[in-house]
Amino acid sequence: MNINTYIPDAFIEDVKSYLPDHLELEDFINACQTPLKRAVRVNTLKMSTEEFEQVCSERNWQIVQVPWCEEGYWLERPEQEEEALPLGKTDLHLSGCIYVQEASSMLPPTALKETLNNAFGVTHTVLDMAAAPGSKTSQLVAMLDNEGFLVANEYSSSRLKALSATLKRVGAHNVGLTHFDGAVFGDYMPEMFDAILLDAPCSGEGTVRKDADALKNWSLQSNIDIAEVQKSLIKSAFHALKVGGTLVYSTCTLTPVENQTVCQYLLDEFDGLIEVEPLNDLFTGAEKAATQEGYLHIWPQLFDSEGFFIAKFKKTGAKAVSEPKRKKGAFPFAPMPAKQLQEFMQYLKKQFGIKALPGTVYSRDKEVWLFPDAESVQLFEAVKYSRIGILIGTTHKNGVRLEHEFGSCLGKLANKNIIELTAEQGADYFNGKDVRLSEPSAAQGEVIIRLNGASVGLGKCRRIK
Ligand code: SAM
Repeated sequence: MNINTYIPDAFIEDVKSYLPDHLELEDFINACQTPLKRAVRVNTLKMSTEEFEQVCSERNWQIVQVPWCEEGYWLERPEQEEEALPLGKTDLHLSGCIYVQEASSMLPPTALKETLNNAFGVTHTVLDMAAAPGSKTSQLVAMLDNEGFLVANEYSSSRLKALSATLKRVGAHNVGLTHFDGAVFGDYMPEMFDAILLDAPCSGEGTVRKDADALKNWSLQSNIDIAEVQKSLIKSAFHALKVGGTLVYSTCTLTPVENQTVCQYLLDEFDGLIEVEPLNDLFTGAEKAATQEGYLHIWPQLFDSEGFFIAKFKKTGAKAVSEPKRKKGAFPFAPMPAKQLQEFMQYLKKQFGIKALPGTVYSRDKEVWLFPDAESVQLFEAVKYSRIGILIGTTHKNGVRLEHEFGSCLGKLANKNIIELTAEQGADYFNGKDVRLSEPSAAQGEVIIRLNGASVGLGKCRRIK
């Protein structure tokens, strides 16, 4: 119990006005004062859930499956081990095999799962409109198995850096990063996305279990102010969505001002062009959190999690934006010239046994990029990106010098010149030290570095006499 959790009286009065009849205020307050159980999500781009469960059993880590996410687990480690090596410094975390993510935060991508699964064989285009630090983006990328094209947007510069780091760690290569007020997407990218997640900036009332001071600056007026931003974002999301596409709106706050009211604004503004897709059956037990509209209002006491709100919509008709806009300036990339590409692919085949890459190789000056296979290049040209795909190399006079991201994102395609590290060697590698192998290796030249079977980067093999 954390009795230091700050819960202002005015907030409690407000909660009383919308707490459903079947829930007790006392249970809510108790839950707010109870520290959160830690949850992680297995990043299936790097490790299967079976492999993760095996590792946990070998290490005596206790896990319980999160009911709404096949890859999610509540995790407890022996106390001494946790003190000696925090989870964030373990080999599993450093290699990107797991991502620490609150259990209820796994719900919004789960609500998009059916839409993304239905896209089997189709190049899907997804927008994550408010993406940093990237918990849900990385979950979406894993659900897409790095296929299709995902635009991950973040307005705050410092948080954009965190998002970029997350994507590198988890091995995402199908993402375009943008840095805009999300309200611009409707004008610049109208009807371009099959699925949109708007995990909106919000007052964070649901996060007190993690942050005892989360309600320090709470006021009804700030809820009302932030709802105006949410409305501008949800309107933009409507326009950016294709007809037939799916929108998931979520917040980690409880007040209807930022939840049901914003959803109702969307339904009123685009009356007859968008409908609610009820989430009552999203997982076994979801009905406990379902509102009469078919949204999920996750009170912290319901599933012993943070508070969350999730709503799902289908766009059924179009309404043109009044002033569609075009980006100024030329697109600075071009597909790599055929001869250069052929030589590059020959090297990858000889060195790593890699016969094809999952995307198209583009170049700009000396940089060599792997772009995702998008539905149309229009998507690349519509807005200015901070980056698209991954930088895989730089050209120099003897060919292409590979970049670290080639190893971490594409290393799983290799079948030779691979070095598997132990946990200790992995720690050295991540600290930038040379790694000494315990046994001689047949590997030569550039090598793919793996840890726990997951590709984590690139190395160079040297023999020491
Ligand atoms: N989806 C993220 C995740 O799962 O890791 C969390 C997103 S957080 C709830 C909301 C984000 O929206 C913040 O990173 C914030 O900086 C960003 N934001 C604030 N105003 C925005 C705007 N006008 N357009 C886009 N993003 C915005």
